[in-house]
Amino acid sequence: PTKALQDLDAAHHWHPFSDMKSLNKEGSRVIIRADGVWLTDSEGNRILDGMAGLWCVQVGHGRKEIADAVYRQMNELAYYNTFFKTTHPPVIALSEKLAKLAPDHINTVFYCSSGSEANDTVFRMVRTYWDKMGKPDKKVIIGRWNGYHGSTLAGTSLGGMKGMHAQGDLPVPGVHHIDQPYWFGEGHEMSPDEFGVHAARKLEQAIDEIGEDKIAAFIAEPIQGAGGVIIPPETYWPEIRRILKERDILFVSDEVICGFGRLGEWFGSTHYGMEADLMPIAKGLTSGYLPMGGVMVSDRVAEGLMLAGEEFYHGYTYSGHPACAAAALANLEIIEREGLVERVKSDIGPYLKERWLKLGDHPLVGEARMTGLVGALELVPDKKNPHKPFREVGAAGVICRDTSFGNGMVMRAVRDSMIISPPLVLTHEEADFLVATVEKTLDDTYRTLMR
Ligand code: PLP
Repeated sequence: PTKALQDLDAAHHWHPFSDMKSLNKEGSRVIIRADGVWLTDSEGNRILDGMAGLWCVQVGHGRKEIADAVYRQMNELAYYNTFFKTTHPPVIALSEKLAKLAPDHINTVFYCSSGSEANDTVFRMVRTYWDKMGKPDKKVIIGRWNGYHGSTLAGTSLGGMKGMHAQGDLPVPGVHHIDQPYWFGEGHEMSPDEFGVHAARKLEQAIDEIGEDKIAAFIAEPIQGAGGVIIPPETYWPEIRRILKERDILFVSDEVICGFGRLGEWFGSTHYGMEADLMPIAKGLTSGYLPMGGVMVSDRVAEGLMLAGEEFYHGYTYSGHPACAAAALANLEIIEREGLVERVKSDIGPYLKERWLKLGDHPLVGEARMTGLVGALELVPDKKNPHKPFREVGAAGVICRDTSFGNGMVMRAVRDSMIISPPLVLTHEEADFLVATVEKTLDDTYRTLMR
């Protein structure tokens, strides 16, 4: 029974990113099964997974093919490490596959178990790279306010979540943050195009202030996900590209959300015409079936760091785990065979976007935006004055999120932005259900707020 599960859960399970005091009162949501884009909870309700778990279940839930591949691998070689020049067939095959999928200048991957570990790895890689290049002063890494790069010390530090920084006295020294390209929330006094250039030039200003000779890298998500699906104005990435071309710093494209088809390309940086020196990956690599992450490394960094003649003293017990590698291979095979990346670009992506953008007409919505299969709605208290936030930021978002769940769909709230990132296998009918449910949810939320 649900209540018994909730009580046991509350007694012993500390949930990530959860207010445990209110959880203990309300009880957690118990999900027991999933298939395609549908979750089933302990009460037998079917709920559309509008977030693909945590932005990761690209191929949908319940793919027996992945479970079978993992089962076969576990029977053959469940675990062995990849330290000290050891390897095994699944990690060899996966590395070759990833090198083929990545842009031509990226041919190497270092493995870990999550996006956070990938960014910890990045942190050490970029500093060590410059050390090997004879420029040990190049240490500062520039990230962006409201960016998200994970929960470890380096991940939290590189990210720009002030609430997270406050817990643990972070960021660690040597990290600098610049503004995010959030036109709706912070830039609407300019046109989007003007603001895109303005926001990008914050990077140039930071480089000038700190000194290029002290900067190791700039890290950014192609689209900030956990920060609220901040889709930058079209002028943003071209201006960043110009700046990076003129300056000798590494560019880290955090592909943990935007990789593996989310934006209709294999990698988000290619969607925006950016050439990354390093790409942290995780989530969609295995569609979340098993935990796996990595850092994809350009030939430039590989030649400078990996082949420098001294080992990189870094690695995890589960780096290149055979069962996880088998899951990743089976997952990538499904993405390729079913043409899911192309589907996001030219079929389900545009289909959903057309309908999603119309939700911008709702009296509660100040802006609707979507790229590929990731989108946001900005809830506002006064549509005539759309950039003015709610008095109590985040409260409307929570009501809308919980109402959505009750209506049969998972939608995430970031402040008062409602976020979706559904599995890439979403059908047209499911997209129609998604939009209809969001519409009903907005109506219900509006009525609650007007009360
Ligand atoms: N980077 C980005 C862009 C993310 O969105 C996330 C997680 O949401 C991470 C890194 C951290 O990944 P993980 O939760 O697997 O550690």
